[in-house]
This record gives sequence, structure tokens and C-alpha cells, in this order.
Amino acid sequence: MPEKKSTNDPCDRHIMQQAIEKALALGASIAGYVPARLLRGCPSARAEGYRGWDTFTGTVIVLGLYHDPARPEMDWWEEGRSTEGDRMLRRMTTAIAEWLRKEYGRDARDIPYQTGAGGIFLKDAAVLAGLGCIGVNNLVIVPKYGPRVRFRALWADLELKDTASVFLPSPCDECPRPCETACPQNALSGGRYSRERCLRRMDADRMEAAAKERHSGATSPVDHCRTCDLVCPAWTTPEKKRNARR
Ligand code: SF4
Ligand code: SF4
Repeated sequence: MPEKKSTNDPCDRHIMQQAIEKALALGASIAGYVPARLLRGCPSARAEGYRGWDTFTGTVIVLGLYHDPARPEMDWWEEGRSTEGDRMLRRMTTAIAEWLRKEYGRDARDIPYQTGAGGIFLKDAAVLAGLGCIGVNNLVIVPKYGPRVRFRALWADLELKDTASVFLPSPCDECPRPCETACPQNALSGGRYSRERCLRRMDADRMEAAAKERHSGATSPVDHCRTCDLVCPAWTTPEKKRNARR
């Protein structure tokens, strides 16, 4: 365990700035941070109960990775291995944690993806870190990338008093809501997300993958529904640029 430095170290903000730059250099599309204490009362924790992550000192660094619709395999879930996109993110969070320990003697570690494994409510953390806002489709909509961003985080022994968050007006206010009409489960009816309905579709996706495995004898990743993600027109600069070149 590296030696713990003073929590009043004036360099914490500077170290954080470097950590964010490192995240972007490693391939993250976006990165930000939130003091861990703010996660204690985040909306999901209030709605779903407190579970998972239980460290409320220090800072959580949130990394986001754009999941290009042209590379759908980044989002395919494999039992015991997560998704390719999540593995990419984990390599980044692990590298940043190692760098913080070695370079600055600060304790730091990757945070598991799922709350059941000790993770945080990642979407809440991303919003609190100022990376985006929650859309009608219950996904974090990120400037430039829309809802096609997946998140992972690491914890660092850095004490920062506040986030770098900025107010982001919701793109949903002026939107005709294709996510609502396209959802195969009617899970966004009236602009309210129904977890129960959406989970039914997730279960069906898993069963479909299991049936494929039984039929083929080969591992079949779960290709979860992304309809409400893919139809969302908000803030998707890379795709607009690509379409403009065609
Ligand atoms: S499709 Fe429109 S309403 Fe739905 S999440 Fe995207 S911006 Fe919001
Ligand atoms: S993931 Fe699929 S089922 Fe769930 S809300 Fe989005 S479109 Fe509906």
C-alpha cells in the first residue's frame, strides 16, 4: 500500500488534471471526476437503495468511451468477460490507478462495473461529473457523442471539494422522441422509463444468445437491445461528420 499523502495537499487539483489528460491520451472519449461523497445521495442510490460501492472519501474519476454503431461488437456482452468496450475501459482505469500509485503515491483502484460486484451507479456519477445529462431513454447523453457512450470509473485518494460539472440543457426538450416510439417494449411510454419492461427485453436477449449457443455449440455473446440508443439524434458529431463525407 503506498504511503498516503495529506488530504489537504494543494496539488490534488493538478494531479486530477493530469489524470484526466492521461485518460484521454489512453483513448477515453471523455473523462471527468466527482467527489465520492456526492455519490452517497445520488438519485439511483435513493431510488434503489444503497449497495455496491461504500467508499465516500476521495474522488471518483469517470471515463466514457464512444461506442460507434459501426462497431456493434464493442457492446456485445460475454458472460464472465463483460463487453469489449468495458474491457477497453478497464485497461484505462487500471493504467491510471497504477500511474497514480507510482507517480504520486496515491492509493487508487479500478471500480467494478456492476453494483452487485461493488460498483457505483455509473450513470449518476457521469452526470455528477458533468459529462452529460440523462435522456428520456434513461441513458447519459454526452455532448458530441449522444447516448452512445459507456462508462467505467476508478477511485483515487484525491480530495477535491467540487466537480467540474456544468449545466447541460436536455436535448430531449425539443425532440420528437423517436426513442419512445421505437422501443419494442413500450418501455419509454409517456417519457417515463420502465425498468421492468426494459429488463424483460434484456432477459429475452440473453435467452436468444443461450439458444444460439445450444444450437451452434459455440459461445454466443448477448447482443442487447440498443434501439433507444441508436435512434437518438442528439449530439452525435462523429456520425454526422461520417454521413456528410458519404
Ligand atoms: S431520442 Fe430524443 S427524446 Fe429520446 S433520448 Fe434522444 S434526444 Fe431524448
Ligand atoms: S433498451 Fe430496448 S427495450 Fe430497453 S428502453 Fe431501450 S429500446 Fe426499450
